[in-house]
Formats: sequence, C-alpha cells, structure tokens
Amino acid sequence: MTAHATPVAEPAPPRAEALAATAATPAPTLSGWGRLPAPGREIFSESLESATRGAVLSRGLARSYGDASLPAHAADKVVNATMANRVLAFDEATGVIRVEAGVSLVELNRLFMPRGFFTPVTPGTKFVTVGGMVASDVHGKNHHVEGCFGAHVRSLRMRLADDSVVTCGPDENADLFDATVGGMGLLGHILEVEFTLHRIPSQWVWMESERVPDIDAFLAALAKSAPQWPMTMGWIDCLTRGRSMGRGILMAGRWATAEEAPPTPPRLGPQITLPFELPNWVLNPVTASLFNTAYYWRHLRQHAKQVVSPEPFFYPLDAVLHWNRGYGPRGFTQYQCVVPRAAGAPAVREFMELLTRLGGASPLCVIKDCGDEGRGMLSFPLSGMSIAVDMAVSPDVQNIVDKLNEFIIAAGGRIYLTKDRFTRPEHFRAMEPRLDRFLATREKYDPQRRLRSALSVRLFGDRA
Ligand SMILES: Cc1cc2nc3c(=O)[nH]c(=O)nc-3n(C[C@H](O)[C@H](O)[C@H](O)COP(=O)(O)OP(=O)(O)OC[C@H]3O[C@@H](n4cnc5c(N)ncnc54)[C@H](O)[C@@H]3O)c2cc1C
Repeated sequence: MTAHATPVAEPAPPRAEALAATAATPAPTLSGWGRLPAPGREIFSESLESATRGAVLSRGLARSYGDASLPAHAADKVVNATMANRVLAFDEATGVIRVEAGVSLVELNRLFMPRGFFTPVTPGTKFVTVGGMVASDVHGKNHHVEGCFGAHVRSLRMRLADDSVVTCGPDENADLFDATVGGMGLLGHILEVEFTLHRIPSQWVWMESERVPDIDAFLAALAKSAPQWPMTMGWIDCLTRGRSMGRGILMAGRWATAEEAPPTPPRLGPQITLPFELPNWVLNPVTASLFNTAYYWRHLRQHAKQVVSPEPFFYPLDAVLHWNRGYGPRGFTQYQCVVPRAAGAPAVREFMELLTRLGGASPLCVIKDCGDEGRGMLSFPLSGMSIAVDMAVSPDVQNIVDKLNEFIIAAGGRIYLTKDRFTRPEHFRAMEPRLDRFLATREKYDPQRRLRSALSVRLFGDRA
C-alpha cells in the first residue's frame, strides 16, 4: 500500500549547464483526461504534509476531463497526491476508514472487497484518488439512494491557503467542509479523508439489463427502476434521429447475495492498452454511428439477467487503458449536465434533439437518475436526469457548449465542473445560485485567492 518509489522532493533549482542542455526540450505540460495540455509541472511526495506547504493546487490521477486539475500559471506549485497512498486506520466493526488523500479506488477495491467492504459511492472509473473523489464530490449509479461521496465523509484533514493544517467535517468547521466537498480543490489541500465503507454480501453484482427503443421509453423505464434498484444507469444512442432517438440499454443492479454469487471471487479480465494516439479522423460520424448500432444490437435479448463482476458493471471503460487516446491529438471534453425533474421528460427529449442537431452527439452518452442535492456548495447533482456526452474538440465545440448551457440555464439545471472546460463564467453564474455562498466561504479561508487553478481563472476570475 505504501508507495514503492522513493519520495521525490521538490526539484533543486536547475544549474546553468542543465538549463542550457534542456533549452531545446519542450516545456513540461500537464493535462486532464480530455488531454488538452497546459504548461506546468507537478511535485510528487509521500508526505503531503510537507509537499503542500506553499502549493497552490493539488491533483490526483487527473481523471477530471477539463482544467480543474491544471495550474493557473506554469510556475504554480502543484502537488500530485498519488504517492501519499497509505491506509491509516480501519475499523472492521463499523467500516470507518482513514486514508491519505492519494489512495486510489483501485487499491481500496483490491484491499477491501475480499474483506466484504466497498466504497459507498463509486464513479465510473476506479482510477481516481480519494482526494479527487471529495474535491469533485463524485456520484455513482446509486446516487438516488446514497447521494454523493461527500455524504459518507466524516472528516477531512486539510492544509489551507495560509499553510495552517485543520480538520473539518459535517459538524466541525462545517462551512469549510461544505465548500471543500465538490469545491474542486480551491479551499485547501486534502491530506487525509475519513469515511465509511459499506458492507457487501458478496463480490458479485446481480444485473438486469433491458434494450429500450426510444428516449421516452427510456425515461419511463428509469423512473420505474429507481425505487426498485439501488443502482441504475443507461447508455443511450444519441446519434440516431427520428422515432428511435435516445434508444439504448438500461442497466439496473444490486450486490448479489452470497447464495447467488459464484463460489470464487471475480477475476480481472485481460487489461488492454490503447498503445498510441489514434488519428483524429478515426472517430467520425460514420464510425460513431456504426459503433452505436453494433452496441445497441449486441444486447440480443430484450431483457437479460445475470451475475456479473463489478468491473464491467461499475467500470466498463477501464477495460481499455488510455482509451482517451482514441480521440486523437485534438483532445476531447465531456458535457455533463442535469435536467431537473421539475422540467420533466419533454425537457430531456428537447435536450437530446438539440444535442443531435448541434452535432455534439458521440458514442459515449450516459444517462443517470439523480436524487436530491447534497450539502456540498458546488456539488453537481440535483434531483433529475444527468446526461453525459463525450465530444471531440473541434472549432464548433465552444458554440455547442454555449447552446447547451443556454438550454440548461432555462431548464433550471447545471453542469458538472469536473468534466468541464468550455463553460463561460456568465453561464456558470446563471446556473449556480449557490455560487455566492461558495465564493464568500473561499474569501473567508483564502482572502488572497492563493489557491487557484486554470478552472478558477476561467470561471471565477482569479489572476492567471
Ligand atoms: C471514465 C471516467 C468515468 C467517470 N465517471 C464518473 C462518475 O460516474 N461520477 C462522477 O462523479 N465522476 C466521474 N468521473 C470523474 C472523476 O470521478 C472525477 O474527475 C474525480 O475527481 C477524478 O479524481 P482524480 O484523483 O483523478 O482527481 P484529479 O482529476 O486529479 O482532480 C480533480 C479535482 O480534484 C482536486 N483534487 C484532487 N486531489 C486533491 C487533494 N488531495 N486535495 C484537494 N483537491 C484535490 C483537483 O484540484 C481537481 O480540482 C469519471 C471520469 C472518467 C475519466
């Protein structure tokens, strides 16, 4: 569990000859999952306590798509938390666990699933750190039942902008806690997280899936499934127009009982790696449509019931490492929004039509039922339908995001910051009535706005 590599201290100031030798090498860059680069470098250390002193941003496994984990300025001190990956305490009787912020979900699953415990909320990839899960207040297929990850956090140990180290939680420095959960790393560096793991009856998942012919049927099926299943989500084909628009596969699941589960634990399948960046043209409207049709009809029976490994159920995309190279050198973004339940099914249908008309649709389009809003001041979900769609970066992408945002503002919804790179500040303000409270809390704990990121420059006007 402890890092195998030796700690990497802050780099020594480069000597003149070393500088001359590296003068021709390109400046180091960092990027998020969408692979749009920004100048900057990161410091790795096993000790977050020392590394975060004077740092302006922390990051984890860089699975946020946009600019949330990117520095505002190339010279900013950015700490990568992934070497601080120890489990500090675990109480088997209660499931309460305390970890360093750089622990990854893949490690937690490896260690605790065989002991009969699983994280209360998991996003759609296991390659995230617990610090990143708090900062984005991630949600999973069980949001309608369990809320976001932050709802299961008992306390955080943090380094603040003035370099002090404090503890916060739902009942201690609660304003700091509420602004940190979903606050995209802008309130402080998360050093340690205490939260509660859930007991699971087996290491297998009972899954039922259904092929659904169009978006209206899909929404009706999701609404029917939500009270019956602790976990639901769907893939929708948002490239097909006309009567079949929004057809897709609905998946519902629960942990299999010990009796239903096979006698041996699930085995990890072969890990495929996309070895290089594909050219931009590989993913085009024709290949995307072919993929969608094949994926839809791969689900041969209309209804299927099976016991499956958690890997394909929770983390289907993790089967191919570096799949983000598939979008080519242009990079990509994800537009994830929530359409409030009050706006109803017609608003979701209209959104899908707009998305297809604007040319923003791609093979990866996921729909989820969200439950009530949590306490995180900038936490994403609210009661309604979340729709997430990947989009290659193109000259049209800013216009597409603008138009979708205008629709979402009118519908009373919002977007997910951890996926975002293109939302304009005025659009974010218009969709986020909680923003003033967040900014006031940030002002209290960091009046000089020392902690910052490329996202906070773009959306909150921090100095670059
Ligand atoms: C394939 C895929 C599927 C996904 N599915 C989902 C999903 O279903 N639900 C969902 O909610 N999200 C989902 N995500 C998004 C992902 O869960 C979040 O972006 C998560 O924050 C990534 O964690 P990370 O460790 O990679 O953080 P990074 O991307 O490195 O950082 C994300 C944010 O957290 C901050 N941060 C990270 N570590 C710290 C720390 N120690 N202290 C303070 N701030 C910190 C960063 O500053 C940044 O603002 C998905 C992403 C991918 C690539």
